Amino acid sequence: MNNDSTDLLLVAGEYLITSPNKRPLEDSCVVISDGTVVEYGKTRQMKAKYQKARVMERSSGLIAPGFINCHTHAPMVLFRGICDDIPLKQWLEEYIFPAEAKLNKTFIRLATMLACAEMIRGGTTTFVDMYFFEREMANVVDEVGMRAYLGEGIFDFPSPAFENADKVLEETVGLIEEYKDNDRINFTVDPHTPYTCSSNILEKAASFAKEHSLPLVIHLAETKWEFDETISSHSTTPVKYLDELGLLGPNLVAVHCVWLEDDDIELLAQKGVSVVHCPESNLKLGSGISPVAKLLEAGINVALGTDGAASNNNLDMLGEMDFAAKLPKGVALDPAVVSAEKVLDMATAAGGRAMGNKAIGMLEPGCKADLIVIDLDRPHLRPCYNPVSQLVYAASNRDVTDVLVDGRFLMTNSELVTIDEPGLIEAIKSFQNQPFWKE
Ligand SMILES: [Zn+2]
Repeated sequence: MNNDSTDLLLVAGEYLITSPNKRPLEDSCVVISDGTVVEYGKTRQMKAKYQKARVMERSSGLIAPGFINCHTHAPMVLFRGICDDIPLKQWLEEYIFPAEAKLNKTFIRLATMLACAEMIRGGTTTFVDMYFFEREMANVVDEVGMRAYLGEGIFDFPSPAFENADKVLEETVGLIEEYKDNDRINFTVDPHTPYTCSSNILEKAASFAKEHSLPLVIHLAETKWEFDETISSHSTTPVKYLDELGLLGPNLVAVHCVWLEDDDIELLAQKGVSVVHCPESNLKLGSGISPVAKLLEAGINVALGTDGAASNNNLDMLGEMDFAAKLPKGVALDPAVVSAEKVLDMATAAGGRAMGNKAIGMLEPGCKADLIVIDLDRPHLRPCYNPVSQLVYAASNRDVTDVLVDGRFLMTNSELVTIDEPGLIEAIKSFQNQPFWKE
């Protein structure tokens, strides 16, 4: 059968990883039509079946699902290195919040473009964002061609963009309507933390998320300070406090979850909450180490995120996977505790499950054609006995040569297609000469 509407047959010269839990395939290719994976199979058979398709060969290529960075504050790339090596509370109160108080839309546009350039270069195809001026971000992300879940931060106090939670929710209703026909641009509801939002606002955000079938994203149990503070204000742990307010459920995406009691873990599992693990940020801010092995063992869906670039200091999912795979082994004194396959799942399909979207993070028929090519002809990637191990433990963002979202190339042969990278870098350099928070 010839299929005339088929537009692209992408050949993995070396390996094709379709799902994190399936064995990588050799001599295989993926067939893409209208932004969707039609099927995959042996290259020779697919070429015979789809004779009119455009064929692109990546002779030393490993094709894999694109990464889902399940938690970041993308525009914070412009705060990269603004202040390092101090505690979270001081970092927020003395550096980040004062700089953010002066945020404007121009900053957001420039910063989002830079973050997208960095993420595409690192093989990220979808990101889940909590920040401000998400309307400006949606614009840039749409122009660049990435997929995103964008959440406007909600607080008890005015944010740099909105005076209160009601205004944020009003804006979210407008954005959902404007982007209802664009499945790359999605929205979430984002109360910042249990200690920067009152119980009223938390409940209001949760019922809004339920009403509009949106993921509810919150930073939870990140630091010992937060844990102790919740015990003293509410006589219970952060997780149980949110449970009392009715927030725990399958649409809740709890970011960090470092400070947990054993029954908190049971509760998260019972309620079907997804957790986003951000190990580099947790270590850099001295917050602690999330008990990821226990979370996985309890059956919790654990996705992976970089957090913002001010606390990481990059948006590199390949680096984050390497770190996430090694850290629990050192904690448990057991190299078998979290496997490379599990960590690849955390960086891909688990992010899709957290967002309630099973069409991303895998390359099964019917899934979105969001994928990357890694060039294995690099000294640090040879020999290649196990492509999953290579991705998690050896590859770096410089090895990503091609990135497709919705079947469209955002990077090809290591060149960004939708972003004027030299122009962007020049704009960032002039920004650096006069950062707005010093005005
Ligand atoms: Zn965060």
